[in-house]
Amino acid sequence: MIRYERDEALELRVRGIAQKLQLRHDMTRIACIRSTGSKARRTLARCHALPRVMQLALGVKAHYAIEVIAEQFDRLPPDEQAKTVIHELMHIPERMKGGFRQHDYVCRKNVEKMYKEFLK
Ligand SMILES: [Zn+2]
Repeated sequence: MIRYERDEALELRVRGIAQKLQLRHDMTRIACIRSTGSKARRTLARCHALPRVMQLALGVKAHYAIEVIAEQFDRLPPDEQAKTVIHELMHIPERMKGGFRQHDYVCRKNVEKMYKEFLK
């Protein structure tokens, strides 16, 4: 069974990255979750959104969660962890309506570009 827990340390890290990259996301609506016990073997992280129908039902704006798969993510060196987080952040459009940006934009090349920017 998958176990999920909020990862506030990672949230701080993600906020730092977003700030450095001058992203305009509302970071109060992006949570970071660590999961353990996932059967996903080749997945490092994934991004979730509150669907529009649930936003309407609950009367809240879109919220997103970046989930890191602990067994995979923890094994990565810090630079690869940062790239993984950048990749997931890039899936979230700055307008944050509940949709995602796809892999035509969230590709290796653009992630590397962002990562270089982050290192500056
Ligand atoms: Zn992706």
